Amino acid sequence: PRLVDDEEGGILFFSTPTSSSSSSRFGYSSIDKQRQGLPVYKYRNGILYLVENHATTIIVGETGSGKTTQIPQYLNEAGWAEGGRVIACTQPRRLAVQAVASRVAEEMGVKLGEEVGYIIRFEDLTKPGVTKIKFLTDGVLLREMMDDPLLTNYSVIMVDEAHERSLATDILLGLLKKIQRRRPDLRLIISSATIEARTMSSFFDTSGRMHKKAGDEIEPKKEPAILSVEEPIGDILVFLTGQDDIDSAVQLLTEEAQNLKKNSSGLVVLPLYSGLSRGDQDLIFAPTPRGKRKVIVSTNIAETSLTLEGIVYVVDSGFSKQRFYNPISDIENLVVAPISKASARQRAGRAGRVRSGKCYRLYTEEYFVKEMPAEGIPEMQRSNLVSCVIQLKALGIDNILGFDWPASPPPEAMVRALEVLYSLGILDEDAKLTSPIGFQVAEIPLDPMISKMIMSGSLLGCSEEVITVAAILSVQSIWVAVRGVQKEMDEAKLRFAAAEGDHVTFLNVYKGFLQSGKSSQWCYKNFINYHAMKKVLEIREQLKRIAHRLGIALKSCEGDTQVLRKAVTAGFFANACRLEAFSQAGMYKTIRSSQEVYIHPSSVLFRVNPKWVIFHSIVSTDRQYMRNVIAIDPSWLTEAAPQFYQQQGLNKVAY
Ligand code: ADP
Ligand code: MG
Repeated sequence: PRLVDDEEGGILFFSTPTSSSSSSRFGYSSIDKQRQGLPVYKYRNGILYLVENHATTIIVGETGSGKTTQIPQYLNEAGWAEGGRVIACTQPRRLAVQAVASRVAEEMGVKLGEEVGYIIRFEDLTKPGVTKIKFLTDGVLLREMMDDPLLTNYSVIMVDEAHERSLATDILLGLLKKIQRRRPDLRLIISSATIEARTMSSFFDTSGRMHKKAGDEIEPKKEPAILSVEEPIGDILVFLTGQDDIDSAVQLLTEEAQNLKKNSSGLVVLPLYSGLSRGDQDLIFAPTPRGKRKVIVSTNIAETSLTLEGIVYVVDSGFSKQRFYNPISDIENLVVAPISKASARQRAGRAGRVRSGKCYRLYTEEYFVKEMPAEGIPEMQRSNLVSCVIQLKALGIDNILGFDWPASPPPEAMVRALEVLYSLGILDEDAKLTSPIGFQVAEIPLDPMISKMIMSGSLLGCSEEVITVAAILSVQSIWVAVRGVQKEMDEAKLRFAAAEGDHVTFLNVYKGFLQSGKSSQWCYKNFINYHAMKKVLEIREQLKRIAHRLGIALKSCEGDTQVLRKAVTAGFFANACRLEAFSQAGMYKTIRSSQEVYIHPSSVLFRVNPKWVIFHSIVSTDRQYMRNVIAIDPSWLTEAAPQFYQQQGLNKVAY
């Protein structure tokens, strides 16, 4: 261990033997004993000393050593939450926020939501005046700054998982540095699992290579996991990329496990990704039943954010889903792309924390050595910056490019964001937030384009409908995908399908759900995700409250889908595309940058191919696919954003 205590701040690195910690799963140890067995416990006093004496303390320690669950408790025990002050701990991922908060509440023997609470977007489980330790996403803490720019409620803010370099973490780090100058009493802890030695490699260099590699090799990953079933007992953690491939792998494995039953111990196969219901989350952390083997198929959420006990084998696909933004085409999409060496090492490290383990890498050693990038690229440098710009503007930070970033965003991306925000009427010619639209949009905790859609919906008389659409677009997917019943699924979808597109189809589903009395049976029959629909209802309630606060009256357009589509256009005009009549079937080009795109097979407009459409987002596999698509009339574009489309020369185009 190294303990650095100098002028610049406290830095603590600690490394530990793997076979440490936790005898709790064998059931003979009290929580206190287990806590004292964690590697971080040895540094308890050292950490408290550094925090006491330094504005900023950096803590680097491996996953599972107790940083997230223990340090906030140490701070609490040392009195940092006295006098109504609060200790905050941020995480990039919502699921991690919920999981660690409930773990810490359990360790402290308190009810979640009292002394220990959490906040994620659309869910606040804290009690003002009672909550001492608060877990929250970095994005939520950023939003809190809008009401309380100096974050005066907090005595210590621990920015956890800093190595992930999420967009919100980077913005937060820049802002916290500013706050510290005004608040010498505030303490910062920056903690991470790896030592950051990232060279800020240029976005364009690496992304090009990554794009090409993605997509080809996503498919069969079941064999390696099955193979290791022959290994001695111990749980297995499989890293895949997203909900879709995880769900199908879970299904495959469950089927295979039934065939294998005779000669191997039973498998309990569980998915792990954000958006998992509470019940499914609990299964992940529950002890493995005696004589069984847990197989957890996860996104990279299990890489460092969550600690899973009892993992002995890791299967690393070598991929994860990553956000990439290209400022030239102005397209941001989720790409299945190769992970970095740093990530691969972290994944391997999940094996054998309790005893020695094995990691199966589904790529060659040569690839690992020669081609895999050493480090990932900070999200700041591969994201659309529209939300980031609007948040900083709302905090009164005008010189965004001159801002002290941990990693500078590409100027092109910044220019693009300013351009879109100007066209949306959110920024004025001096790049200041407009009043009231700009300030109102900044207040809604959604993508600015969705917020603009809501504002326009209110002007056009369809606020009820746009709020429903916004809520549905905020959940992963309202459809359930079940293998082997494609025909039945398509038929179910047809019952709701609207010729105008997915947004109108969503409204039909929502209506049906309400008419069924919010029945889970009804959802089951129609291949609709009941949990997602319940979440939609919750989010919708929150949005109604926000709308009320902003003085938006709720009004329905009573089935006039044209006004709804105009409202969507007012928010998403930048995503307009036209069908290319003389080229390949179903090929569209974006108006903005002539990018080739196609309608995603999950859309009700797949194969319908209206001439003009607007999409909500892009996913790319072999091609760039538009998800959630709506048919529009091109004249609405020039109506919604005259400057934007005159620049593009749309007025000269024959419709
Ligand atoms: P770090 O933040 O350093 O990665 P954590 O504080 O998350 O580590 O975890 C420390 C230890 O607490 C883990 O090694 C594990 O033993 C235990 N732990 C954490 N979360 C849970 C949970 N949800 N259920 C059971 N044990 C947990
Ligand atoms: Mg942690």
